[in-house]
Amino acid sequence: MPADQPYWQKLRKSVEKIAIDYNYQRIDLPILEFTELFERGTGESTDIVDKEMFKFKTRGKEDVCLRPEGTPSVVRAYLQHGMRSWPKPVKLSYSGPMYRYDRPQEGRYREFFQFGFEAIGEQDAILDAQMIQMAMQIFRKLKIKNVSLHLNSIGCNECRPSYNKLLISYLNNRKKSLCMDCKRRLKTNPLRVLDCKEEKCTQVVSQAPQTVDHLCDDCKSHFTSLLEYLDEIEIPYSLRPQLVRGLDYYTKTVFEFFAKDDEGAQAALGGGGRYDYLVEKLGGPNTPAVGFACGMDRLINVMKKNDINPYYPPKPKIYLAQLGDTAKKKSLKIFEELEKSGIMVAESFGRGNLRTQLSQANKLKAEIVLIIGQREALDGTVILKDMNSGGQETMPFNKTIKEVKKRLKKNAEMAKKLALQQAKKKDKQRKKSGNRKKKK
Ligand SMILES: [Zn+2]
Ligand SMILES: [Zn+2]
Repeated sequence: MPADQPYWQKLRKSVEKIAIDYNYQRIDLPILEFTELFERGTGESTDIVDKEMFKFKTRGKEDVCLRPEGTPSVVRAYLQHGMRSWPKPVKLSYSGPMYRYDRPQEGRYREFFQFGFEAIGEQDAILDAQMIQMAMQIFRKLKIKNVSLHLNSIGCNECRPSYNKLLISYLNNRKKSLCMDCKRRLKTNPLRVLDCKEEKCTQVVSQAPQTVDHLCDDCKSHFTSLLEYLDEIEIPYSLRPQLVRGLDYYTKTVFEFFAKDDEGAQAALGGGGRYDYLVEKLGGPNTPAVGFACGMDRLINVMKKNDINPYYPPKPKIYLAQLGDTAKKKSLKIFEELEKSGIMVAESFGRGNLRTQLSQANKLKAEIVLIIGQREALDGTVILKDMNSGGQETMPFNKTIKEVKKRLKKNAEMAKKLALQQAKKKDKQRKKSGNRKKKK
């Protein structure tokens, strides 16, 4: 809604700035994709694909769905549009609506917005660290405080099978205590039992073997160097052995961001990780990759709760008023001339009454009102009314643009001077009261 747009503007601008500064190119992804992309990419046994997809058949009997997330689409585009031959890593960013058929809650809608960053073609842990750094920079730009980073490594095809065996045998012995979903997950995707939110499952899981204790040498050194990079950029993290991120494609690094509010409640802002097998799984060559995504609706909720100043676009300082049929006819053209020369103008052309137009101009805090009446319309002149001084004069229209710019500049300088004087005055008062305190 319009009232929310200043927050969205601020968020989009901050994300765009980081994308430009870190050399991530924008990519726009289709909202509709073949269902198979997410079944193969995100994983058939994940909640997103299994329970939450908006999927249907087209007239041509193709299986399509509204995208539930961005990463598989980015990888599809990477393969389909020859980005394999680009210098690596290929750095891409996107934002837009995603769709999940979930129970709507506060900050969690069936149509929700995400932005995301993906770097394809590099396995070095410095890219993982850079992803986290970029996310943190965006939170910092939005003045979202108390963001905590949860971090884990869930291994690779080398080390995970043996870990899975350990986990399955541990869980099998405690099968009775697991929820229905987890009993099923035990067969399809045992790692997912680790991040089940059901009370009885979290109890079982708290004593389960941890992925980080069973990493192969490659995964271990990758994780260690990520932690070193994070220390170097002074980003604190908390290691979470139960963090697995619910999607099939993650390998090695997984991470999530949470914002703590005043009451201590945590809001998930987003997360990501490494997905070294996804490109291959979708038909490409073996290509490592890493990325993250954040929920924009969530971020905006947090911004509002933290009383963060959103982005307000500049407002017009000129108001164009017209009186009579001839003037009304000319007003669109005059508006266009002013707009072309870079002057922002407010109007309420539907009104004919000059008094209502002037009171509108007052409400909008216009500095100058340009009035065209019957005579001015015929003469090619304009009445320029200065709202600060109250004075007004008639001048040829072709001179108004220059005059308006001159006056606006003067007003801006005056306002600046006034602000400076007030700041000095305040400073003096502060010093005075400081001295008084000292004397006491
Ligand atoms: Zn490994
Ligand atoms: Zn469970």
